[in-house]
Amino acid sequence: MSKSKTTIWRRIRQWWWQKSCPSEFLCDNCRYDHPSACLRPERPNAVKCPDYVPNTM
Ligand code: SF4
Repeated sequence: MSKSKTTIWRRIRQWWWQKSCPSEFLCDNCRYDHPSACLRPERPNAVKCPDYVPNTM
């Protein structure tokens, strides 16, 4: 999959997640929600994040 398609799907996923759970932070369900995995200053309260990956486990 090309990089632009990946970005589009990521944005759609984020949009859908925010619509589904508007009161939750993305980090609560992100695979990278750990200090050694994510150095973003908005963690753990990000509501928008280009690196968000749903934690499916
Ligand atoms: S990558 Fe983004 S959504 Fe995931 S933990 Fe870091 S700041 Fe939160």
